Amino acid sequence: MRTIRTIAELRAALAEPRRHDARIGLVPTMGAFHEGHLSLMRRARQDCDLVVVSLFVNPTQFDETADLVAYPRDERRDAALAAEVGVDLLFAPAATELYPDGFATTVSVAGLTDRLEGAFRGRAHFDGVATVVTKLLNIVAPAVAFLGQKDAQQVLVIRRLVRDLSLPVTIEVCPTVRERDGLAMSSRNERLRGADRARATALHDALLAADAAVRTGERDAAAVAAAASAVLDGAGVETEYFELVSADTLAPVTEIQEPARPVLAVVAARVGGTRLIDNQMLTTDRQATGLCPGRAEPEARAAAGSQVS
Ligand code: AMP
Repeated sequence: MRTIRTIAELRAALAEPRRHDARIGLVPTMGAFHEGHLSLMRRARQDCDLVVVSLFVNPTQFDETADLVAYPRDERRDAALAAEVGVDLLFAPAATELYPDGFATTVSVAGLTDRLEGAFRGRAHFDGVATVVTKLLNIVAPAVAFLGQKDAQQVLVIRRLVRDLSLPVTIEVCPTVRERDGLAMSSRNERLRGADRARATALHDALLAADAAVRTGERDAAAVAAAASAVLDGAGVETEYFELVSADTLAPVTEIQEPARPVLAVVAARVGGTRLIDNQMLTTDRQATGLCPGRAEPEARAAAGSQVS
């Protein structure tokens, strides 16, 4: 695996494979790799001839300077993990490479970014994400980009910008990978200590409670959300939102009419000083397998997740 720092070097490295019609896959990341990131890379490895992973802690998407400063960084470890799963190129540019002096352009996706993460983190968060992802897609020009269902709203925003800007790339969404106790893997989990680590499972437990309520016949979204909120409140975490929303538009849902209208349960909470998010497609099917701690959720769930757009 080669580590590349500049756009020019990366384009040069991709020129020859592209001439030979190599299928190029991109996995955009901010580093601090865990099994969630590695699952995207493995999927890209299976699906593509050449796998590029970008490692860039994008300053413009952080709404809190403290969060940016505290964000875990260990490029040597990340490079070793990426090499192990067969990544070809690790693109790890300096901030000045992506944002040179005088940088003045922002990609902003209207509507989808107003609610949930956009409301709590501010619009600048998704502007930062949309701008850097557009740049990465332009620089790498992959056939496929691999994203995690863990960041469901981000998936919708990126799908929308790809469609609106006519970018020639397919977006593949991979299922959320969880710790054995159900906590969705996240680079921020490293900051959870002691009782906070135990409390952090409340997000997944709340999603399980919502899932169980729907499977046993509850169709009123407020009642489902109340069951989930009781779990979050009981664990003593500071809930920012727990909502049932349309999986296609993120609009609030009042009644569950799945499968005609797929519903996503989304949650954000602060545990100690750490902000965590998670989500789950809800199904009225009593037979379907539930959430599956400790590994990627089953393919049926993944398929549901990848319809989130
Ligand atoms: P990040 O480094 O947090 O920007 O994440 C890079 C990519 O990995 C994004 O597409 C995320 O959605 C994805 N990702 C993060 N955590 C997980 C997880 N637990 N399972 C699957 N994908 C994930």
